Amino acid sequence: MSKKAKLKPEVHKYQAEMQKLLEILVHSLYTEREIFLRELVSNASDALSKVQLTTLTEEKVLNKNAELQVTITFDEDKRMIVIDDSGCGMTKDELVENLGTIANSGTLKFLQQSQAENKSVENLIGQFGVGFYSVFMVADRVELTTRSWQVDGQAWQWSSEGGGQYEIIPVDYEKRGTRVTVFLKEDAKEFCSEWRLESIIKKYSNYLPFPVKVKDKTINQVKAIWTQSKSEVKDDEYKEFYKQISHGRQEPFHHLHFNIDAPIQYYALLYFPESVGNEVLYARESKDIALYAQKVLIQPSNTHLLPSYLRFVQGVVDSEDLPLNVSRESVQKNALIEKINNSLTLRVLKELQLIADQNVEKYGKFWQQYGTLLKEGVSSDFKNKKRLMDLLRFNSSISEDSSMDVTLKDYVSRMREEQKDIFYVTGGSREAILHNPNLEYFRKQGLEVLFLTDHIDDFMVTDMREYDGKSLKNISQGDIDGINDNDMSAPESSLSKEEKSDILAFFKKQLKDRVNDVTDSKRLVDSPCSLVTPKDGMTAQMEKMMKMMDQKFKGEKRNLEVNMSHPIIQNLSEILQKNKKHPFLIDSVEQLYDNSLLVEGLLENPVQILSRYQKFIESASSYELEKLS
Ligand code: ADP
Ligand code: MG
Repeated sequence: MSKKAKLKPEVHKYQAEMQKLLEILVHSLYTEREIFLRELVSNASDALSKVQLTTLTEEKVLNKNAELQVTITFDEDKRMIVIDDSGCGMTKDELVENLGTIANSGTLKFLQQSQAENKSVENLIGQFGVGFYSVFMVADRVELTTRSWQVDGQAWQWSSEGGGQYEIIPVDYEKRGTRVTVFLKEDAKEFCSEWRLESIIKKYSNYLPFPVKVKDKTINQVKAIWTQSKSEVKDDEYKEFYKQISHGRQEPFHHLHFNIDAPIQYYALLYFPESVGNEVLYARESKDIALYAQKVLIQPSNTHLLPSYLRFVQGVVDSEDLPLNVSRESVQKNALIEKINNSLTLRVLKELQLIADQNVEKYGKFWQQYGTLLKEGVSSDFKNKKRLMDLLRFNSSISEDSSMDVTLKDYVSRMREEQKDIFYVTGGSREAILHNPNLEYFRKQGLEVLFLTDHIDDFMVTDMREYDGKSLKNISQGDIDGINDNDMSAPESSLSKEEKSDILAFFKKQLKDRVNDVTDSKRLVDSPCSLVTPKDGMTAQMEKMMKMMDQKFKGEKRNLEVNMSHPIIQNLSEILQKNKKHPFLIDSVEQLYDNSLLVEGLLENPVQILSRYQKFIESASSYELEKLS
């Protein structure tokens, strides 16, 4: 640094969120402070990737021919480690922007929560774009000197002790790139050791694409693992590479490595993580694929290489056919990207089918994590709909517990000869569905019914329409023809035609506008009545969801089906024939209607049925007493 730089440094306060973040980092208990080096080296490598691309697209670049590398030196006496890169460097504005604010506003909240739950934060910082600050776990003070690739730039030095502020001052620094000097805390002096530094780099940074040198010796492998042939890469190497790109410790759930020559050449190394956070599950797009062209990183997180429903996939795609000098905007619109997307998607889906065929247990775990996303795919990826439908897993009326292992193919193979449709029912849970009266007929007949319990299922089946030429039919909806009509006729009722129409008319008069119609049921066996959605109407599940989104939402009217052979109905009919004004009739109809709402989860205020229940118990108990006397 030059002596003439007698300038006063500019003092900047960290953004408030940033200060809190630093507090967390400094005051947390760390078991793995060594990851600070992983973060600094990965920043250096990112900066090298950026300048590599810039060199290809810009005419004037400072030190255009500088070797792209990271060098690390240390001084035990001064407790000092220096990480030097020939990367893109930063202008003053970039410095303030990148090293004084948190890019993602959700980050702080997330870290605070993790800390409160006593989770270790070391694994999270790298993933949330705040990796740089992990250096304050080990440092009293950090100095960062940087000069941008832009030719007429000025070099700057940023320094901070991690407290509430940092300082910036212009300096003389000839080289392009960034030098980070870490002044270690007394209790972190262990890191000033050649052996220690080397082993940390081997552990976390072995597959970075640029040489990382300690005392002029290259420590890492410096190879693009994805361009190697599968047989050359060991299983451990795949795992280590995954940990490097995910900034984490988790092992991948599965990886998929291949290359393709036509219609476009590309290499792909993709990973399915064990699990992903809500920020991925609820995201709108896939963004964990790094796009390389001819081994140069073009985009660290491309959003167009995979459809949104495959957003859990992470990894690298590298194409020899992509031009290097493409701008970010034109990458998105590039026809080649579209082609890669189609082919990648197909490969991922085929791989999933392979897992499903070869390892049922493994696929079960996958389904538990990512099933909802594949359901999203059924609704959004028309081209691969059949393939996606084959990947779906259901619970059904023949499952012994709530396990999800029934495929549509299984279902079809078990269909009765005369059965034309695939039957399903939706509900909040398997438990709730088992109480659904509409299921009675099907269970008695031994007809399999798929149980759909996920919020998204209603929408998905609407988009599915059919599988293998068989349409999907909701058993709580409209007409359920398709099974042998003789089969479908209700059990014998002792009521005459007139008596039947009288009791139906009584129900209708009492329930008036609350129902669409009251009809004689064909599907009930053990229950006196049930609600049925008119053909093509909204299912109870959908209605509940709409009500969640819009409190004022008025549900659709349903049909009430009445079981004419049920003892309750037969008794009511007899009372009706004797005394049309008997008060017990009204209470009973109201109660039966409320019971049907309750089963569907549509009864808004269940407590309201209590007083009526008590009335019934009162009259039943007098009757029991009478029998005793
Ligand atoms: P992330 O790397 O996830 O963006 P960091 O906290 O590690 O988050 O770094 C913040 C930003 O600081 C980086 O995005 C980058 O713009 C800048 N930066 C950090 N280190 C360097 C470096 N060695 N060279 C150039 N820019 C850097
Ligand atoms: Mg970083």
